[in-house]
Amino acid sequence: MSRILPADGVAFEFTVPVVVIGGGAAGMVAALAAHERGAGVLVLERDALPQGSTALSAGLIPAPGTRWQRDAGIEDSPDRFAADILAKAKGEPDPTAVARVAQAVGPALEWLADRYGLPFSVVDNFSYPGHSARRMHGLPSRSGAELIDRLRGAVEAAGIDVLCEAQVTALHADGARVCGVEVTRPDGSVERVGCGALVLACNGYGGNRALVGRHVPELADALYFGHPGNQGDALLWGEAMGAATRHLSGHQGHGSVAHPAGILVTWATITEGGVQVNTEGQRFSNEAQGYSEQAAIVLRQPDGIAWTVFDERIAGIARQFEDFRQAEAMGAVLTADTPAELARQTKIGAEALAATLAEVDLLKAEGGTDRFGRSFAGSAPLVPPYRAVRVTGALFHTQGGLVVDDEARVLDAQGTPLPNLFAAGGAACGVSGSRASGYLSGNGLLTAVALGRIAGTAAAVVKEESNR
Ligand SMILES: Cc1cc2nc3c(=O)[nH]c(=O)nc-3n(C[C@H](O)[C@H](O)[C@H](O)COP(=O)(O)OP(=O)(O)OC[C@H]3O[C@@H](n4cnc5c(N)ncnc54)[C@H](O)[C@@H]3O)c2cc1C
Repeated sequence: MSRILPADGVAFEFTVPVVVIGGGAAGMVAALAAHERGAGVLVLERDALPQGSTALSAGLIPAPGTRWQRDAGIEDSPDRFAADILAKAKGEPDPTAVARVAQAVGPALEWLADRYGLPFSVVDNFSYPGHSARRMHGLPSRSGAELIDRLRGAVEAAGIDVLCEAQVTALHADGARVCGVEVTRPDGSVERVGCGALVLACNGYGGNRALVGRHVPELADALYFGHPGNQGDALLWGEAMGAATRHLSGHQGHGSVAHPAGILVTWATITEGGVQVNTEGQRFSNEAQGYSEQAAIVLRQPDGIAWTVFDERIAGIARQFEDFRQAEAMGAVLTADTPAELARQTKIGAEALAATLAEVDLLKAEGGTDRFGRSFAGSAPLVPPYRAVRVTGALFHTQGGLVVDDEARVLDAQGTPLPNLFAAGGAACGVSGSRASGYLSGNGLLTAVALGRIAGTAAAVVKEESNR
């Protein structure tokens, strides 16, 4: 499907200065930014309703130095955020790319709030692993569904055209310049739309089994929890046009997806002092390192299953998330007053589970570090009633992609920008390096929002007359 066709002799039905492929966070933000610069914009979305992985996410966006942080007395800065990103990814990402998004995301959130009325607030009651400041921002429901609904509302209110059920199946190019796109409708009919600039905002390749098998073999058979329409089109088009790609094995996994309920269980259950045990009642890792790398670790346990065990205090914190409330409503969160009762409900051997919980109690009491390297210093004890969720590991989205410059222009293998091709969000190479462990919470929406705004702004000023 992801073909590059010649542009010569093609009669485009109409031409738009900026075409955006994909109606997730990156595409909507790019569209708003380009429109503000006075460009005509068309968003092409394959689904009947633009949602993407954005709608499936918790909608939490990390941003340093925002007014919401200042109001909450949280000290932070883009440099500090960039240092956290680089530390989590062991220095793998390009520091310039990291600085670019770390500096851009705070102003982007304030812009979305001031201009389009998105009511962000900062999550100030728990910390995400690897973030040295509380800098996650979200909308009231803390859900990606609310994020995409509000972005879509803003795009519609701005009068920007969004064409749904419009899958882009090919690009028309003249050498390195994109001249238009081929759009295939559900009835098989095809339209050709010309463009002055093209923004690829159609995410990565998490929904493409073959590409996942090639680039992320450890999760080849894992549950894919992202949007199925993300088939790697941006990567395939970019590769075919000679674009540079990087860190294609990078990805966000998650080690706490309720199974079989299929609902994300917030990692606050762990950071606030919960633990994971396998079906034999044994702990098996330092869960506090991060949820992304935990996906493959959970999948290596018997039946690829773990139980996330916490308590009512932690459940109270987790309840701010719509996902968690849904998991509770579906009965996926067990309650037990004693370790024996928890063992009975989870069908874990009572002796093994009691011993594990006693060991955790002791570590917490002593502020000790366990054999996996997890420190329990300052961690409150787990107090009955216990809460537990049966979980598995899943692939959320891929983090590798097309290499872009300061204006989100796609670069070729020599580092030269393609004249009118831009990439944002999961279509572009992220800031997580080549491993799951490099993913710092929020890196996904970080590049969707920050690069989306940069790409839209730059795409709006590509001179149409120089395109043919
Ligand atoms: C369960 C879950 C929880 C997450 N939680 C968070 C979080 O809290 N914070 C965070 O930062 N990140 C989170 N992420 C990651 C985050 O969702 C993504 O990084 C982000 O949404 C990517 O935005 P995007 O706009 O690039 O892609 P998407 O939102 O996936 O949008 C891409 C759009 O492109 C469309 N499309 C694809 N191909 C074509 C085509 N050929 N033609 C037309 N349209 C096309 C798709 O239909 C889709 O609508 C989470 C992910 C998952 C799965």
